Amino acid sequence: GITRTPLIAGNWKMNLDHLQAVAFVQKLHWALKDAKHQDGSVEVAVFPPFTDIRSVQTLIDADKIPFALGAQDVSAHDSGAYTGEVSGAFLAKLDAKYVIIGHSERREYHAESDDVVAGKVQAALKHGLVPVICVGETAEDLEKFGASAVPAGQLEAALKGVPASADIVVAYEPVWAIGSGQAATPQQAQDVCAALRGVLAKSLDEDAAARTRVLYGGSVKAANIASFMREPDVDGALVGGASLVVDDFAAIIRFEK
Ligand code: PEP
Repeated sequence: GITRTPLIAGNWKMNLDHLQAVAFVQKLHWALKDAKHQDGSVEVAVFPPFTDIRSVQTLIDADKIPFALGAQDVSAHDSGAYTGEVSGAFLAKLDAKYVIIGHSERREYHAESDDVVAGKVQAALKHGLVPVICVGETAEDLEKFGASAVPAGQLEAALKGVPASADIVVAYEPVWAIGSGQAATPQQAQDVCAALRGVLAKSLDEDAAARTRVLYGGSVKAANIASFMREPDVDGALVGGASLVVDDFAAIIRFEK
């Protein structure tokens, strides 16, 4: 069958200025000198604030650091009169590979609807970026509808118009688990990630479902990463808080099943 390379992704949110970001990436690289990501068996990606991306790009390029680069958001538009927005074309020019789209903080604090998320997914693909499509239920959703219904609906909406051949990543991030210290259980993560793979099969095709990585996110740390990675439908992690501590993020990347 298809093997999916695990992806460990660090979402820094609004933390670390460009000088701090450069120092952090140097330290992380040093902490991972002999780690398995060096041989490509695990992919590492960092998602700094926009103002850091050029500096981090220059560093990973100069020192041949094997981290992929991503942004935390992208405009649905290509260019023009959209004050404060950042185009996918600009991100691609900085060698960004990934872009997080539809993070729960953007859905909540910036009123990003499923339609806005779908528009940003289209923009990312148009500019050759891999969208990391974030979906997840709130505590209230969980109580009312169970775990899978809301994230499955969000993913279906985000995939509107996406071709089956598209290179995408899905991140299941239960809102109640983000930054709360209360991670989902491995079984909960597995169940929803499997349901999301079902959405990929239905909205795209079976090959897309088999090849697309579905990540878990929400209070992932060194102590629980292995338990998630042992689940067959969990292909990596989107890590917030613990991606800001060199030793913690390095230990997550070094997970052993
Ligand atoms: C996130 O916001 O993407 C996240 C997973 O955060 P944390 O790891 O801090 O829960």
